[in-house]
Amino acid sequence: MMDNIHKSTSITGVKISYYFICHTKLWLFSHNIQLEKENENVQIGKDLNETSYVRDKKDITIDQTISVDFIEKSKNGEKLILHEIKKSNKMEEAHQWQMMYYLYYFKEKGIEAEGELNYPLINKKEKVILTEKDRNRIQEIINDIFKIIEGKLPSPKKKTICSKCAYFEFCFGDDL
Ligand code: SF4
Repeated sequence: MMDNIHKSTSITGVKISYYFICHTKLWLFSHNIQLEKENENVQIGKDLNETSYVRDKKDITIDQTISVDFIEKSKNGEKLILHEIKKSNKMEEAHQWQMMYYLYYFKEKGIEAEGELNYPLINKKEKVILTEKDRNRIQEIINDIFKIIEGKLPSPKKKTICSKCAYFEFCFGDDL
């Protein structure tokens, strides 16, 4: 188990979510080709985070790996509820697995937690719970991510989200 936590220290929540969005993006981001700051969508997400929820504990970073928007205690005080604030639910699967990874990471540290995805613009909340099956899947995903990162740049494949991606010109600049 310690091997997994040790190995997963360089796997951030963003990388988990990129694994579900695009392997090319995952590879570029992991190789420090990071253009996301220039992306308007990311800025909108950050603005949302700053304006929609005002809590005591915000942007909690653990081991410089996990960055949770805010954390609160469950009503009975027995576990933590980790919150992530998202702009839209178009990438719901990626959001769910990112949260699942946070729950996995907390569990590896012996901390019981549940997750909640918050979509304030569409007034939606989604509860996320980590099962034993999910924990095994997370371990597979981590191994897979290492294989992708250590390999060659995966060829870009055009999809709907590409036009809004910060790497669009990098991937398809010649096609413009
Ligand atoms: S532009 Fe498309 S293929 Fe390229 S990294 Fe972004 S999502 Fe992936």
